[in-house]
Amino acid sequence: MERVRSEQLYTEAKEHILGGVNSPSRAFKGVGGGTPVFMKRGSGAYFWDEDDNKYIDYLGAYGPIIAGHAHPAITKAIQTAAENGVLYGTPTKLENEFATKLKDAIPSLEKVRFVNSGTEAVMTTIRVARAYTGRDKIVKFAGCYHGHSDLVLVAAGSGPATLGTPDSAGVTKNIAKEVITVPFNDIDAYRETLEKWGTEIAAVLVEPIVGNFGMVEPAPGFLQQVNELTHEHGGLVIYDEVITAFRFMYGGAQDYLDVYPDMTALGKIIGGGLPIGAYGGRADIMEKVAPLGPAYQAGTMAGNPASMSAGIACLDVLAQEGVYEHLNNLGERLETGLLRLARKHHVKCTVNRVKGALTLYFGTETITNYDQADATNSEQFATFFKAMLDQGINLAPSKFEAWFLTIAHTEADIDQTLEAADLAFAEVATT
Ligand code: PMP
Repeated sequence: MERVRSEQLYTEAKEHILGGVNSPSRAFKGVGGGTPVFMKRGSGAYFWDEDDNKYIDYLGAYGPIIAGHAHPAITKAIQTAAENGVLYGTPTKLENEFATKLKDAIPSLEKVRFVNSGTEAVMTTIRVARAYTGRDKIVKFAGCYHGHSDLVLVAAGSGPATLGTPDSAGVTKNIAKEVITVPFNDIDAYRETLEKWGTEIAAVLVEPIVGNFGMVEPAPGFLQQVNELTHEHGGLVIYDEVITAFRFMYGGAQDYLDVYPDMTALGKIIGGGLPIGAYGGRADIMEKVAPLGPAYQAGTMAGNPASMSAGIACLDVLAQEGVYEHLNNLGERLETGLLRLARKHHVKCTVNRVKGALTLYFGTETITNYDQADATNSEQFATFFKAMLDQGINLAPSKFEAWFLTIAHTEADIDQTLEAADLAFAEVATT
């Protein structure tokens, strides 16, 4: 597949835009380098690049595009919002409408606030948890990504009960010391952490179903135990549902799993593709936020009519009957097909799937935590990724990401994808 224009545009981009991309995950670093594809149009499950090559898209813009590209109802909602003026700086009825919809879908959100990104949402839940508890430390799980605020760009210490160190230049040691990182699905490590630091911990940050080292589900009882232990020690539980909310059902992963946090951070899907974040939770905690309380958080763009309109339209699409059944059916077809082809070509791999989101891991049989995901075969993934891309299948360029199905994908798309995978696995098998 020729991608001459992408090559030219990437060269040009690197002259003007740092690294040629506006988010590092778009560069092909995770697949050993290469030229990112410059897309020019998306419609439904498909993309067309600047050379007019067509792709079936499984990136879904890293998650938000669950309704497919340019979904007519969402597009219409954005057009109407634009015609009425995109930004007011005053309250609007749309914010009430959207807040009510979110609360109806995710009942633990007694009060909500809209922000502009998942990063902001998570960052603010941490501030609010600190304001509420009067404590400074937080716990997070290894390999989970919670945006790029200083507080969460922190690497694990040498054991579960040791304090963190900066995971990015520019994050101070003092900030990192407030963050403790423990392995996901390891309740003993979490208990040990609380025994050591419990009285200083404001909150634990949890992706209830992990989406950032592939899709990884919590072990049975793990989230319940995290809740119990955290509350016993006087801390709060924050769910980062930026990826998971409305992914598996009309509601949060918390509603899907029937285990509930004190606060939740949201983003991605709820904006229908426009910039958004939101956070919310127990009313007595949320009341710590300005203008009612002493914890400050604000935003010029927060709750803007365009994002509200796109979000409302997206949730209306997702509320339709059969949506999640469709995603699950396609996910199952894809998973079964990928595993069958892997066996056919004697390539060792496993698939973790929750409904319409899955990750294909190479060189392994089980993935329940980050270390296992990190140890999977990067070269095989890179070979597979490139072979798929050259056959018009657009996956995320990293072994840690998920394939996201949209309601626009069809069984024929899955079958075409599997045909491409047959060749891609063959290539993996010979390298
Ligand atoms: N939390 C999670 C779980 C995420 O996956 C992401 C983004 N991938 C974020 C937070 C940050 O969201 P944003 O990129 O909108 O700032």
